[in-house]
Parts: sequence; structure tokens; C-alpha cells
Amino acid sequence: MKVKLSIAAILLVFLVLLLVFSACSLFTHVEGPAVIFVIGDGMGQSHIDAASIYLEGQKHSLSFEQFPVQGTITTHSAASTVTDSAAAATAFATGQKVYNGVVSVDLPGSGAALTTIVEYYQERGLSVGAVTSTAVTHATPAAFLSHSPSRNAYRDIADQYFHDTRADIIMGGEGESYGILETLVMDAGYLLPEFQNLPYARKPIAFFQGDGHLPYEYDVADGVIGLSEMTASALASLEDSAGFFLLVEGGRIDHAAHSNDLRRMIGEVQELNTTVELILDWAASRDNVTLIVSADHETGGLEVNGGAQEIYPDAFWSTGGHTATPVPFFVWGAGADLFSSVSDNTDFFDILVSLADHRYE
Ligand SMILES: [Zn+2]
Repeated sequence: MKVKLSIAAILLVFLVLLLVFSACSLFTHVEGPAVIFVIGDGMGQSHIDAASIYLEGQKHSLSFEQFPVQGTITTHSAASTVTDSAAAATAFATGQKVYNGVVSVDLPGSGAALTTIVEYYQERGLSVGAVTSTAVTHATPAAFLSHSPSRNAYRDIADQYFHDTRADIIMGGEGESYGILETLVMDAGYLLPEFQNLPYARKPIAFFQGDGHLPYEYDVADGVIGLSEMTASALASLEDSAGFFLLVEGGRIDHAAHSNDLRRMIGEVQELNTTVELILDWAASRDNVTLIVSADHETGGLEVNGGAQEIYPDAFWSTGGHTATPVPFFVWGAGADLFSSVSDNTDFFDILVSLADHRYE
């Protein structure tokens, strides 16, 4: 009787241990990083202030303005105090200053391709994606997904996207004048699913709308799927991967600012803010997400005064071009503290590289 009891006790202890161990292994599921880099093209602090005043009645009220790590970056390119989007995006994507107009090649220098953060993540078996409100081959995504001495070499840039880089997800505007032909995309083995089927489709996938850039949010027509909806869909497609880098570009803030068009500019910043809110909702139950919001440069030399909720502030634009004014950045989530020393647009790259090797339990 005694022997039987102790055998039963040993068996019970063994079973309990087995349960504890299997529960532990369930909860110690290892995940790769989910790094999301949101770029407001042309979005200086005054652009953010204008949107915050109009939407919330005061400055510093947008979602990303509450992030724990914040600072400003200088944006000059290799030979100009005032950058363009190609050189600025190259600085983010490769950590190197290049001439304006250059897309991730070593100029000034050898002219060789510079390794991009996208390639770095791919080398580590992680997924990559790009979502933009401009044509997908426009300068900002181009610096992450291709290499060219000229941002205007759209056909070559598109060829590289679909044949060489092969990001898992590409979403945005299309058009023959931007080098994007559906035959090129499909011949390269990309699927072009309906929007509602995107999260379930086998990758790589592409989703295109319109001819060229997406319409401004201010003028938006029914049936156009905005930056926030595309981004939510991209996250749903990527969330079962081993980890990923996702570029999200609010590309038309810059275009409205070139036109000194405050209302359309605010509409674009509002959509970027909504996009960040959606990303934060998605990230709330996860501990492997790093979310960075920044800008490639300031456009328009904007200053704002007055205004209130649903009342546009007075806008003073000093130019229809870009300026050398430093732009803000905001970081939330895993490894956010790593970004506290960032002061120039080239400083992000090494940190983004280091995040690729992080694993989260
Ligand atoms: Zn511009």
C-alpha cells in the first residue's frame, strides 16, 4: 500500500512538472522585431502644430507627440544644406549622405550600391514591406527598395523592386509614368489581390490604386483606400512572419506644402496621425514593436499662428521648396531608448540594424 502510494505521488509530481514545463514553453514563444518607420514627407514641427491646433485645439496633442523618446534631426545632403527626398531617404535607409536625387548608391564615391536596411532585414530572414500615399516608386520608398544614381529612373527602379528586392508587401499609387506595369508585377510572380483579401494572400503581394499618387485626403473620393487602411492591412499580412521592417510614408504632406496649401497639408498629417493610432492599437498587446515617426525634411518654411479646434491657424510660408530646418522624430516601443542620441538623419541606420538581431520572449 505504501509503495503504491509513493509511486502515485511520484507520478503526480512528474505530471505537474510536465504541465509547468509545457506551459512555460507556450509562454516563452520567441519573436523577431516588428520595426515600423513612419515618414511624413516634408513634415516639419509647424506642420504638426497646424494639424494639432486644427484637430485638438492646441499644439503637441497628436498621437506620436506623446511618445517617450523625441528629438530633432539635421537633414542636409552630401553637398547641399537643403536635401531632397531621395538623399534624405537614402540617409535613413543606408546611414550615408549622398547627393540630392541619388537613391541608395555611393555618390559622391564609388557609385556602388549601398546596403539598405531592407536588404539587411531580408538577409536575416525577416520580412519587409512598404506602404505609401505616393506612387510606390517615388523617391522615399525607392531609397529603401532600390539603388539608382537618379530618382527619376522609374522603370529601372520598378524592375529592381519586383525582380531583385522583392519586398513581401508593396502598397500605394501606380502608373506607367512611374514605371509600374501590371505585366511587370505579375510576370515577377507578385499577386495583386483585392484589398479585402490581402491579409490572407500568399506573399509577395502588391496593392495599387489610381494613376500616380493617391488623391489628397481633403479631396478624397469614395473607394480610395487611405494610408491608414493600407497600413492596417499590411500589418495583418506581416504579423505571422518571423519579424519585419515596414516603411510607411505619408508622401503627400510634401506636395501640399510645395503648393503652400494648408488645408490639404493638414488633411495629410491627420491621416498620418490616424495611421499611427492604428499602429499603436495593433501594437498594444505586443512587446516586440518599435515605432518611429519622423520626416525627411521640412517643406515650405511654414510658421503658424492662432487657430483653434476646427479653425485653421494663419499660415506663413517662406518658400515653395524644401528648407534646411531640422525636423522632429518620435519613438515608441521596444528599444526606444536607443534612439535618444539620434541627432542627424544618418543616425537611425545603425540602431535599425541592431534591432534586426533582437529577439523577444
Ligand atoms: Zn518635396
